[in-house]
Amino acid sequence: MEKLVYESPSIQKMNAGLMNKFGTRTDYEPVKQIDGVSVHSMMAQYGSPLFVLSERTMRNNYQNAVRAFTTRYPKVHFAWSYKTNYLNAVCRIFHQEGSWAEVVSGFEYRKALGNGVPGNKIIFNGPEKTNEELEMASNNGSLIHIDHFDELYQLIEMSDKLKQKPRVAIRVNMDTGVYPMWDRFGFNFENGQAWSALNKIVASGKMDLTGLHCHIGTFMLSANAYATAAKKLGDLAWKCKTQLNTAIQYIDLGGGFPSTNTLRGSFLPGTDAVPSVDEFAEAITKELLLLGFPPAELPLLVLESGRVLVDDAGYLLSTVLANKRLSDGRRATILDAGVNVLFTSFWYDHKITPAQDFTQHTEDMALYGPLCMNIDVVRQSVNLPLLNRGDRVVIHKVGAYNMTQWMQFIQMRPNVILIDEQGQTHLIREAEKLEYVEQLEKVPHHLQQINI
Ligand SMILES: *Cc1c(COP(=O)(O)O)cnc(C)c1O
Repeated sequence: MEKLVYESPSIQKMNAGLMNKFGTRTDYEPVKQIDGVSVHSMMAQYGSPLFVLSERTMRNNYQNAVRAFTTRYPKVHFAWSYKTNYLNAVCRIFHQEGSWAEVVSGFEYRKALGNGVPGNKIIFNGPEKTNEELEMASNNGSLIHIDHFDELYQLIEMSDKLKQKPRVAIRVNMDTGVYPMWDRFGFNFENGQAWSALNKIVASGKMDLTGLHCHIGTFMLSANAYATAAKKLGDLAWKCKTQLNTAIQYIDLGGGFPSTNTLRGSFLPGTDAVPSVDEFAEAITKELLLLGFPPAELPLLVLESGRVLVDDAGYLLSTVLANKRLSDGRRATILDAGVNVLFTSFWYDHKITPAQDFTQHTEDMALYGPLCMNIDVVRQSVNLPLLNRGDRVVIHKVGAYNMTQWMQFIQMRPNVILIDEQGQTHLIREAEKLEYVEQLEKVPHHLQQINI
């Protein structure tokens, strides 16, 4: 047996308040494996820091979400939100499960085509679409979601050049009782802008109006907000049918369902604070079924969930670089993974667990990343067992947005691996190297030589 580590006694200041009702400390067990694969062995093979994705969790999440909706409503389709995590291996897992693609740029659009998604199963959202991209999307029969009047006019202007009428929807923003309201995308419902856009589309005769779309926010904590959104889009669909003689084929309620992460400063942990997918499904489908459409004419329900399907499938494994005392006596622990790869630490209190046995000593500590930059804070204050240089930690629920919003700032991006359902690991994105980062740089001739 290994000799236990000696930890010197220390005097701790007791802090009143700031606890939630479960106390400050919620985890007493180390996390030594993920899907049955040892954390230490993965780090030995693939290095540190290391992103790990669980294929099993992604498929389970997807199947549960689909079940929650299809048991309540007859026509449902999910479209994978590329910007949430567009590593091809991840996208293909969702496409294998039957998910369409939801993209918000030409770059993501081409990525979806590259993953083999048929054009007519790609939803093209976002405020920027070039003529070339609109032409490509239109000729592929993709679902183009118009964001503003200038885009609507852009499409009308180019329509004569297109091989077929573009299939379009409009994005609608609205008051769902959740503030601040996201009104910068799409056409407003309450002031009549959305209705005016629909009239223009139908009157132009240049486009096929196929759907109505909204994406009311992200990490939404109210299922009721979706019921309001479903009702408002449903009312528009009804007006399209009765006043514009146009049947709306689908209502797309976007994404935004929360994962079980804990928002910074939240009193309750995420697992207790967020509604389940079933609660969202119940609120949405109940409203859609009450709209008054006969069963055969019920619009297809499209969902563009991202975060809720992938966040808890992602882990970031990291190594302790050092410990130090801050000037106020607080303990600070420095990890080799910082905000450069963990963008979501700006708004989540990520759950962090040691990956090896620990002693009973705990202390409030700040967890910092490796960047030489003051903002590089992984946790402002967290109560953890004492960690020593070389110890490993697991940062939980990092699958959404980190592998797209990560940056090459001071450090390069690390390896990303996938654990398949048989417990095999696969490298799905290699750690970056200096040559890769500098590949696109050009040094002007007069700067080729330096003289120091
Ligand atoms: C980002 C985004 C999504 C996915 O949002 P999540 O919060 O990850 O579920 C879906 N639709 C649109 C239009 C988006 O911009």
